[in-house]
Amino acid sequence: KCGFVSIIGRPNVGKSTLLNRILDEKVTIVSSKPNTTRTNIKGVKTGENYQLILIDTPGIHIAKDKINRLMVQNALDSLEMVDIVYFMVEPGEFIGKEIKFILEVLKKYEGKKYLLINKVDKSTKTKAINTANEIFKYLEFDYVLPISALKGINIDKLIDLTVKDL
Ligand code: GDP
Ligand code: MG
Repeated sequence: KCGFVSIIGRPNVGKSTLLNRILDEKVTIVSSKPNTTRTNIKGVKTGENYQLILIDTPGIHIAKDKINRLMVQNALDSLEMVDIVYFMVEPGEFIGKEIKFILEVLKKYEGKKYLLINKVDKSTKTKAINTANEIFKYLEFDYVLPISALKGINIDKLIDLTVKDL
């Protein structure tokens, strides 16, 4: 089985960390500085019976200049070629203009949608659930998964579900 997955979300939610965790090697730049991922970097995860091509995208934000608009456009364009999208947020994330914009774009997306609540290693369960509930008011996802890209929580489960969906 083979499929494409795009990881999208606001800057700094942990998209590059997740890709590194899935691939078990450092292929993309992780930084606490927003917008360090400037292009759609691909990684390939090969399992016994599957191959996942992962796309790490620049953070989606309200772009103020040309280069930033291009970065956001790149991230959104990636949706056209993928089978599954991981939308990543942090617990307690404010559902502002940026998130609402992404959710509007995702409404038109026809593949499977995963809502990943990342960084649960430094959050309470309640906070993570509340964030998922807030987001579901705007858009329903096929799966919701609390994860920690940094500590490796629920990553195996994420891969299992993803492979089943291919
Ligand atoms: P991106 O902009 O979405 O690609 O975010 P990065 O992967 O570059 O990560 C941004 C910051 O969040 C870095 O300092 C990461 O170490 C941190 N981070 C990412 N995932 C986790 C996680 O699961 N738990 C915690 N505590 N920090 C994380
Ligand atoms: Mg990044």
